[in-house]
Amino acid sequence: MKLIFEKSKAGISCDVLPPCDVPDAPLSPQTARKQPARLPCLDENQISRHYSALSKRVFGVNDGFYPLGSCTMKYNPKINEELAGLPGFTGVHPLQPEYTTRGCQKVLELAAQYLCEIAGMDAMNFQPAAGAHGEFTGLLLFKAYHESRGDAARKKIIIPDSAHGTNPASAVMAGFSVVNIASGPDGCVDIEALKSAAGPDTAGLMLTNPNTVGIFDPNILEITRIVHEAGGLNYYDGANLNAVMGIARPGDMGFDVVHLNLHKSFSTPHGGGGPGSGAVGCKSFLSPFLPVSGTCLAGTSAGAPAPSYSGQSIGRVRAFQGNFLVVARALAYLFTLGKENIPEVARNAVLNANYLMEKLREKFPSAYPGPCMHEFVISLEKMKAAHGVSALDLAKALQDRGMHPPTIYFPLIVHEAVMIEPTETESKETLDEAAAAFLSIYEDILTDSESLRDAPRNTVIRRPDETQAARKPVLRYIAP
Ligand SMILES: *Cc1c(COP(=O)(O)O)cnc(C)c1O
Repeated sequence: MKLIFEKSKAGISCDVLPPCDVPDAPLSPQTARKQPARLPCLDENQISRHYSALSKRVFGVNDGFYPLGSCTMKYNPKINEELAGLPGFTGVHPLQPEYTTRGCQKVLELAAQYLCEIAGMDAMNFQPAAGAHGEFTGLLLFKAYHESRGDAARKKIIIPDSAHGTNPASAVMAGFSVVNIASGPDGCVDIEALKSAAGPDTAGLMLTNPNTVGIFDPNILEITRIVHEAGGLNYYDGANLNAVMGIARPGDMGFDVVHLNLHKSFSTPHGGGGPGSGAVGCKSFLSPFLPVSGTCLAGTSAGAPAPSYSGQSIGRVRAFQGNFLVVARALAYLFTLGKENIPEVARNAVLNANYLMEKLREKFPSAYPGPCMHEFVISLEKMKAAHGVSALDLAKALQDRGMHPPTIYFPLIVHEAVMIEPTETESKETLDEAAAAFLSIYEDILTDSESLRDAPRNTVIRRPDETQAARKPVLRYIAP
């Protein structure tokens, strides 16, 4: 397919502006361009076809099954888009006088109230723009809290190796050092290792739950107790709250701070760098440290004055109230589900993952025993040794069968990992088709493993050089 610049032909345009009938007001030389912008010249029909053709070369949740582990690529009901698209929400300016934005304030307050109830927290802040940004914000709360008590020695964050990759990165960004603790053979936190890691230098623990191998740690109460007794705080990575929401609450499990990925669990389509919201919730003793705007305390009513700050706030982590429309979608989603149906989301997420795991068990056994939560991990280590077929080959072969590939080579604690998250919105028929696709690839592995190294055959791009793509990305069009 040609780039839009390659289709361009000088002199063609589709502007319909009338001739200018006011005097030119030239820009100052500092602000004026030195050269005219190089814009492609096409007619409207060509532009329309160009973008329509581009839209057919992607694979999104609207195209088919998208079991990308840890990403929750689920179907997001269109009514949430409709509601967040109302002109009163999209046309608002963040610098408008407050009395003209009461409706938007109310959206934030209601969303905070519901999310606090779901997470078991007392305050919610919507400034962070994504999950990792929420982690960073939450850890700054830990830091501010310990500093406010003059407890400067607490510089370490304990992170199990089954955590999401962003957890250690956020801890380092927030100025902590990371103490990594290995998981046991059951994929859960090794309690003895945690006990010996926790001490007077512990600022806190970050726990991804369910963890990246899809397990809800059965010792979670003991884990949070050990950290609290050592004087540390507990952080819950709740990016994948769709696995537990309405059933269990981080706040009841001994966690002091949580972030929720509204763009995963609460109905904002994501991927490709779209807008997100890593809402951060905390217990009341930490709320004075929250960012200076975008905070709602649970239980405040519309029009109530913004919470006052004691001057201990960590400051701003983003402009204004964060990605407001993501919060509006989340609220629409919560309204349409209602309190009764929120647990149903979690039950379906867990049911779908276990259903698919069971269907694959014989040929692609799960790397950890027992039922999973919203996702499960299989390992192709043995298959690779026996037949030379890697996790990458499997992922590519699934593309030929009309599926988005699962997450591969993550988590790092499983070799040749394939991490599968079907999400709650897939039907039994889709899961059966997916299982059939996996099993037909298994047949190919036994009979014709060479052919798998050639996959995918039916996609627009076949096997790009992934190392070159990462090391030397071509991000800009350079005219030939
Ligand atoms: C996706 C995810 C994150 C990071 O969220 P971003 O919005 O991508 O920054 C953190 N933790 C877990 C468990 C996740 O699944």
